[in-house]
Amino acid sequence: MTARLDTGSWLVTADRVLAGTGLQVLHHGAVHVADGVIRHIGREADLATLPHPATRLDLGDATLLPGLIDAHVHLGFDAGPDPVSVMRRQHDDEQLALMARNAASMLRAGVTTVRDLGARGDLDRVLADRIAAGMVPGPRLVTVTRPITTVRGHCWFMGGECANADAVAEAVRRHHDHGADLIKIMVTGGFMTNRTAPGAPQFTRAEVRTAVETAHGLGMRVAAHAHGTEGIAMAVEEGVDTLEHCTWVGRKGLEFAPHIADLMARRETYVCPTVNSNARNPAGRIDWRQRSRHLAAMRNAGVRLIGGTDAGIEHIAHHAYASGLEIMTDIGMTHQEVLAAATTHAATALGIADRTGNLAPGMAADLLGVAGNPLTDLPALHHPTFVMARGRLVHHGSVRHHTPPRTGTNREGALS
Ligand SMILES: [Zn+2]
Repeated sequence: MTARLDTGSWLVTADRVLAGTGLQVLHHGAVHVADGVIRHIGREADLATLPHPATRLDLGDATLLPGLIDAHVHLGFDAGPDPVSVMRRQHDDEQLALMARNAASMLRAGVTTVRDLGARGDLDRVLADRIAAGMVPGPRLVTVTRPITTVRGHCWFMGGECANADAVAEAVRRHHDHGADLIKIMVTGGFMTNRTAPGAPQFTRAEVRTAVETAHGLGMRVAAHAHGTEGIAMAVEEGVDTLEHCTWVGRKGLEFAPHIADLMARRETYVCPTVNSNARNPAGRIDWRQRSRHLAAMRNAGVRLIGGTDAGIEHIAHHAYASGLEIMTDIGMTHQEVLAAATTHAATALGIADRTGNLAPGMAADLLGVAGNPLTDLPALHHPTFVMARGRLVHHGSVRHHTPPRTGTNREGALS
């Protein structure tokens, strides 16, 4: 059974249901869904007498949890050896077809919300509207349109170049008019764009402040791409809402700044470290042993970490979220913390916690069922047996074993 588009009324039961923002285990739990929304959640025995009979579905020895949220992807990148060239070469219709394919593969893997942090032009808006209208299957899309960058700066080819603070303010207002949900600003250079330096700020402090003030004035959050320690500090001090990558690249190797981590914790700046399937790769761009120690120190300081993959960049497949989540345990996060980072905390960071990210009455019916118990076995997330997005059944069936993504063979990837 796949891709049924009717919503209707359902009673889904499973041996374990992870309820509420605390992901509390309900043994022999049940979720009642009607018209795309969770109406009741509780123990199966207590929901058995519901007045409105629903289509009943028992997942058995499985765990039902909130649909996953990947807080950092690029649907317009193809995850091949040279995603930038492919994006630059493709016509709009080819880009849209690629983005739709990637979105569908993420949904099938249980990712019911995706924050796309940079597409070409406004194509993310086009796809978001098609998905919301039910024209094509896909997760809920949270969009930025063109990331704000400097002239020929990181990801300039997406169309968001700004020469000065006035241009930054104008771009923020234009993105708002074009339907962007939030603003992405490339505070430092990146690994994927020639002639940009990941360790160095691209924008002045005043330009970053202009972006944040203009966006906040319009009710939009700001996600800041930052690798370099100087740029990370600037972004946090100027009040961005989420920090992307946060690799602490300094002048000589990695330079972690504990006082900036403390500031992140105090200001509740969420950090999406884009830990993906390639993070442990010894040939990768950043040494994982060092980086995971920095991330552990941030966690200990009280910094809120959320899940995201940078999917679409070299060798980071869109459907492979589960592989990166497993690696987050290297930071010292418990399985429950990792699940929260990919659901309830991610929803809060994205400003959509009133809609999704936990299972409670009134929330969208974004549901993921996996065989076994991810609270003791995160790889269970690789095997969705049930996916529902906004009350629409996406997938229900037996466990299919995915081929794990390639790791350890490529020099590139892991971070953009
Ligand atoms: Zn990215």
